Amino acid sequence: MSVAVSLQNVCKTYDKTPVVDDLSFDIRSGEMFGLLGPNGAGKSTTIRMITTLTRPSSGRIEVAGCDTVRYRGQVKRRIGVVLQQISVDSDLTVWENMEFHGRLHHIPSPYRQKEIDRWLDYVELGDRRDSLAKTLSGGMKRRLQIARALLHEPEILFLDEPTVGLDPQTRRRLWEIIRDLNKQGMTMLLTTHYMDEVEYLCDRIGIMDGGKLIELGTLQDLKHRHGEGLVMKQTGDRWQYQFFPTVEEANSHLASLSDRTGMMARPTNLEDIFVELTGRELN
Ligand code: ADP
Repeated sequence: MSVAVSLQNVCKTYDKTPVVDDLSFDIRSGEMFGLLGPNGAGKSTTIRMITTLTRPSSGRIEVAGCDTVRYRGQVKRRIGVVLQQISVDSDLTVWENMEFHGRLHHIPSPYRQKEIDRWLDYVELGDRRDSLAKTLSGGMKRRLQIARALLHEPEILFLDEPTVGLDPQTRRRLWEIIRDLNKQGMTMLLTTHYMDEVEYLCDRIGIMDGGKLIELGTLQDLKHRHGEGLVMKQTGDRWQYQFFPTVEEANSHLASLSDRTGMMARPTNLEDIFVELTGRELN
């Protein structure tokens, strides 16, 4: 399988402090890759480097085979970016936001108009084309951002916390859109604070902490590595976790104890592994 994004020994330093520290990993073509980590782990900085918004202090990043520093323009043409901050122009209409982006990317008319209609329909904003962006709900603005990021037909889409602050129904709708795009062959890198989002959407998961990649693999790989079964024990207001290779082994361990007060056995989930690795929960 070909490689869509490749990071080799990438570092980023601010004021002599390493924020991203010797990061190396690949994202395969067609893959949905999830980047997880506590606040300050370096996820946004990593996305900003891959999407050419900031340069690595050292190391090398290639997107679709192009070095992000040497071939910045080419890289920008081949990627779509949906950043954390809602970045639509609120004083323009939905359609004008799309038109502006289309012109920036030199997409010729009348093809541009056709594509704007197509993508607005795809994210179900066709009937809001003449609304000012500031009148849209949070979920609609996010869909507009996605439609706009897709207009110039990128090969790789970057989504930085795409569903933060959205209600559960709107999140689900966005998940469907994201999944459908991936099924159509789009490579995606997603950062999120939501474990269920990663479990539902991502083929592989990278966990960052302190600027380093501390875990990489499929959800199944991670469970296999850390243990598929778990015994939890409540002491005071804290829970202690003990991992076991299988749920059966966790169950038998629990059954073998004479005092099981405040204890339970269950299958491991991604959040358990995350907390085990980073020592803190996401907020
Ligand atoms: P995450 O997205 O995982 O929360 P970030 O990449 O935003 O992490 O930030 C990682 C660290 O880098 C944080 O400690 C943050 O304060 C620092 N940082 C990010 N951008 C800058 C900057 N432009 N100047 C100085 N420090 C920065």
